[in-house]
Amino acid sequence: MYRLDRYWHGFVHILFPQRCAGCDTTLCHQERILCTTCLYHLPKTNYHLDPENETAKQLWGKVVFHRAASLLTLSKSSRVQRIIHHLKYGQQPDVGIYLGKMYGKILRSTPIVKGVDLIVPIPIHPVKKRRRGYNQSEYFARGLSEVLNIPYDTALLKRTVNSVSQTRKSRAARYDNVEGVFTFVPQRRARAIAHVLLVDDVITTGATISIAAQQLIDGLGCEVSILTIARA
Ligand SMILES: [Zn+2]
Repeated sequence: MYRLDRYWHGFVHILFPQRCAGCDTTLCHQERILCTTCLYHLPKTNYHLDPENETAKQLWGKVVFHRAASLLTLSKSSRVQRIIHHLKYGQQPDVGIYLGKMYGKILRSTPIVKGVDLIVPIPIHPVKKRRRGYNQSEYFARGLSEVLNIPYDTALLKRTVNSVSQTRKSRAARYDNVEGVFTFVPQRRARAIAHVLLVDDVITTGATISIAAQQLIDGLGCEVSILTIARA
């Protein structure tokens, strides 16, 4: 059966070659999502080793949190930008699971995930979700959840306002634009949640993430740590 599976996989691979989300080259038989070259050259931040990293600094003064970190550095026209683009707009939610698992393996037994009871992805507006078909941050959360063995919850936060495209606005305008876009939805639970890991795809100004984090802190009376795939 196993051999038949492998033959089948090889056959599918020849008919529908998979492309690397970072550089668009055809992946070899053993590669998934990213080619070996892209994997080797991923600009990992190692922020989990430094509590005063750039992601944490971006959130200082906006919300009180335990730890914050990002897996990758995002620069213009980079490999990481292409990967994020595939995740958000390329109908490739698997990229999120892949990166979630990658980050989960790095963070296992580090202080950032110690005592975390729940992973919460930043929601996108239902209209956007219907159009896109998925929430990319939810897939990142799934990958993390699987490796760290911590449940994730997609019902706690609801996005209530469909904000205008963030990219065309100045930093200050973006901050105003996201005010009050999340609603906390209480859920029945067997025990209290003490520490939530709030996750998103990219942190830019930190405005959206800090507002969502505050909703969780107020709603659950818990501590929050923040993780993103990339730091712009
Ligand atoms: Zn590649």
